[in-house]
Amino acid sequence: MAATEKPVIVWFRRNLRLHDNAALGAAERDGAPVVPVFVRDPPDPSGQASDWWLHRSLASLDADLATRGSSLLILQGPTETVLPRLATEIGAGALHLERGHEPGVAAREQDISTRLSEHGIATRRFAGRLLADPDRFRTGAGGPYRVFTPFWKALRHGFESGTPRPAPERLTTPTNLPDGLALEELGLVTESKEQIAGWEGDWQPGEAGAREALADFVDGPMADYPEGRDLPGRVGTSRLSPHLHFGEVSIRTAWHVAAQAAVGGAERGGEAFLRELGWRDFGAHLLHHFPRIVDEPLQKKFDTFPWRDDAAALQRWQDGLTGYPLVDAGMRQLRRTGWMHNRVRMVAASFLVKHLLIDWRAGERWFRDCLVDFDPASNIVNWQWVAGSGADAAPYFRIFNPVLQGTRFDRDGAYVRRWLAEIADLPDRYLHHPWDAPATTLEAAGIVLDRDYPAPMVDHAFARKRALSAFQSLTESE
Ligand code: FAD
Repeated sequence: MAATEKPVIVWFRRNLRLHDNAALGAAERDGAPVVPVFVRDPPDPSGQASDWWLHRSLASLDADLATRGSSLLILQGPTETVLPRLATEIGAGALHLERGHEPGVAAREQDISTRLSEHGIATRRFAGRLLADPDRFRTGAGGPYRVFTPFWKALRHGFESGTPRPAPERLTTPTNLPDGLALEELGLVTESKEQIAGWEGDWQPGEAGAREALADFVDGPMADYPEGRDLPGRVGTSRLSPHLHFGEVSIRTAWHVAAQAAVGGAERGGEAFLRELGWRDFGAHLLHHFPRIVDEPLQKKFDTFPWRDDAAALQRWQDGLTGYPLVDAGMRQLRRTGWMHNRVRMVAASFLVKHLLIDWRAGERWFRDCLVDFDPASNIVNWQWVAGSGADAAPYFRIFNPVLQGTRFDRDGAYVRRWLAEIADLPDRYLHHPWDAPATTLEAAGIVLDRDYPAPMVDHAFARKRALSAFQSLTESE
């Protein structure tokens, strides 16, 4: 059998797309029959919202493959045994994969490659998940970047997206493949119907949805992104995060489209957006180089931080019942839609860590379970940034005041009213601090505090003082 007649397994992981997919494109160009495969390899650290997205995204990918004469083979089990078994069974010539960068992933890819090579099967690894390769993109001194600004400067000036490749028009897939699983058999969708309805209403997982979200953003909010991105009450951001996480749009495509549009007029918006894509890479680089940050603070001095163990307070935060409207609106948006606006993520996370002194790891776990865009690197790095224990972190004395954040970024109350119907009738003036409203105003809005909406679970001035002294107690040990 000539090399090109042997099928090539294209391993779909977080590259659930047909366009600009180097692993797939190389197989197509070689003229080889293609076997698109997804392997569910539990235990997977993702949560329920993210699993729901994955389910929908795989269905969409399979449908897209079908229009090109192919289909997705779904398998389950330890990848390092499942893939070599499949490869030998079908007489594959090669395995193509897009490289991952999280802790342990490279070792696993190497393990699979070694096992395949024992059968004379090649493994070809392609870049695609990030803008820059963390193993090559380093400081002048040769180490990993720990500060965003120099990282960003080097990336912005060094990165050329090129023109992303279109999706293949036709694919040839062998018909005599072993049986795979039906998507439903993976059991990815376990949440209640009501919860799923919330996600369904808001999102369109898959490549077409990703393309649409990018186009809508570039044609609309991008021009005003530098200001609009901080206003949770309107659609001022791209909402691309879950699409980017699952690779339904390539990062190169997102960069390319935004950069082109920036040249075409929306320059400030385009630049600001590219910078956020830079943060995504920065987080992935940090996790790659400092794998211990998965559950340890990057800054050692935080090892001894006096976190409080308070299950009841954690529960109130999760339920959006802290008594601080901006925090509560964010936590409800998260439960309802699987997403929270970035400004509100910062305020809600800061509230948990600094007002309640609850360990950032508890918040990270909750977000992991609730976010459709859960991404190990972005979640961990942002939580550590908020807690002050990460790279380039927010200084410990910067403690967001949820009331001031609300009056500044949700001035007309559109965001809070959307998610907290019970206080929607309060006038703007008191919306972000209902406890200051006169009794007559509360009555007119139909609110009894602690009956219809909680009084603040902790006083801001007290919490701020307590947090400052806890943070000051840390000794420099790095
Ligand atoms: P846009 O403003 O349109 O930004 C475009 C893209 O840039 C995003 O889709 C995302 O890929 C990237 N990006 C933007 N901001 C950041 C950032 N601060 N860090 C890393 N990448 C960024 N983002 C995730 O994708 N997954 C997570 O699990 C996650 N957890 C977070 C936890 C906390 C506590 C905080 C404060 C932020 C977290 N973020 C996370 C970052 C950010 O909130 C989201 O990426 C953003 O809100 C997604 O909305 P968008 O696509 O409309 O963003």
